[in-house]
Amino acid sequence: MGMKCSECGVCCKLFLINLTEEEYKSGRYKTMFDEFVHDFSEAEMVGANILAQKEDKSCVYLKDKKCSIHNFRPQVCRDFFCDTEDKKFKEMIEKIKEFKDN
Ligand code: SF4
Repeated sequence: MGMKCSECGVCCKLFLINLTEEEYKSGRYKTMFDEFVHDFSEAEMVGANILAQKEDKSCVYLKDKKCSIHNFRPQVCRDFFCDTEDKKFKEMIEKIKEFKDN
């Protein structure tokens, strides 16, 4: 991890953020379809454990290209960093590059 986050905000715009069961149940995050689901398995089934998005599809917590809930951002947001060499993020990193090149 050499690079510092440039705060381009692209990763918070391109990807759906899946909350863990614990995060979902904490009730502290705005999620999709909140009003329709009652428990986590139901939420996972319909994708409601996903953070809500703004109209432009970016994360509802992205404000001025910064995470407005940085201190309690979901685990996946903590795990991802765009200079990671972790194979599981390869596809995401390619998507970010593609987005920036266009
Ligand atoms: S919670 Fe914060 S870090 Fe995670 S996608 Fe939203 S703005 Fe980005």
